[in-house]
Amino acid sequence: MITRRSAVQGLLATPFLIRSVRAQPAPVPVVATFSILADIVKAVGGEHVAVSALVGPDGDAHSYAPTPADARQLAQARLVVVNGLGFEGWIQRLIRSSGTRAKVVTATAGLTPLKAEGGHSHGHSHGHAHSHGASDPHAWQNVANVKTYVANIAAGLGEAEPAHRDAFVAAAGAYVARLAALDAEIRATLAAVPAQQRRILTTHDAFQYYAKAYGVEFVALRGVSSESEPSAREVAAIIRQVRDRKVSAVFMENISDPRAIERIAAETGAKIGGRLYSDALSEATGPAATYLDMMRHNTRQIVGAISQS
Ligand code: ZN
Repeated sequence: MITRRSAVQGLLATPFLIRSVRAQPAPVPVVATFSILADIVKAVGGEHVAVSALVGPDGDAHSYAPTPADARQLAQARLVVVNGLGFEGWIQRLIRSSGTRAKVVTATAGLTPLKAEGGHSHGHSHGHAHSHGASDPHAWQNVANVKTYVANIAAGLGEAEPAHRDAFVAAAGAYVARLAALDAEIRATLAAVPAQQRRILTTHDAFQYYAKAYGVEFVALRGVSSESEPSAREVAAIIRQVRDRKVSAVFMENISDPRAIERIAAETGAKIGGRLYSDALSEATGPAATYLDMMRHNTRQIVGAISQS
């Protein structure tokens, strides 16, 4: 029951509420091209930004087809954050057609990229291809590189909203400390596994930066489609490659047939690993809802598969 007294208090309270809301500037509208980048922007911008990702969790940013709604989002943004290195082949055209006046930050600016591995056939389960030239865009797979992402994002946010520059600098510093701790944690976890065991057979080629940074070798699986469960002949090809290349584990998301897994394990001693997240976060309830969680999850999956029990 609403008493007369509380109703009066409610009326009195309202103008104060409005005034205190008005005193805070509205959050800066920021558009990031994909989920991992949006998460990093959130870590730096905190409550002062309203971030959206054009390509959301579990999405594929390489082969994304922008929509008119994306152009409208860009038009309203004060800052646009892109990965660069040819990752989002569609973004420049979208920025032009949106007419946005937002500042565009390239998160990888200043990084020395690795060269893309031969042919750019990019083996997510969709088997899409990079549309660009020589650089490998998956620089976030080395945690140390994300310090550059953070510095570029903090500078861009500071220009878009100078009133909160100090807050962005402070949040960036705190996040960089978490990155450094995670980087050390991944190094230590993998260093505990003997070097000759750190070899994985995979359909992914998004892990070059991870491989170089953390001392894991990703060997490309040949002649096996990553689109569906492997046939009996493909299972035989996997077994042959596991033996020839002396790998400890196979990461191929489409192997879920228990007979195939059993046969590979029985004939080679290799383990079949779980899902690795490369280019997108999971949904909020999944194991890779943030960038930090994603890197931790992948490392746990890898170490679990290559460690001999
Ligand atoms: Zn990729």
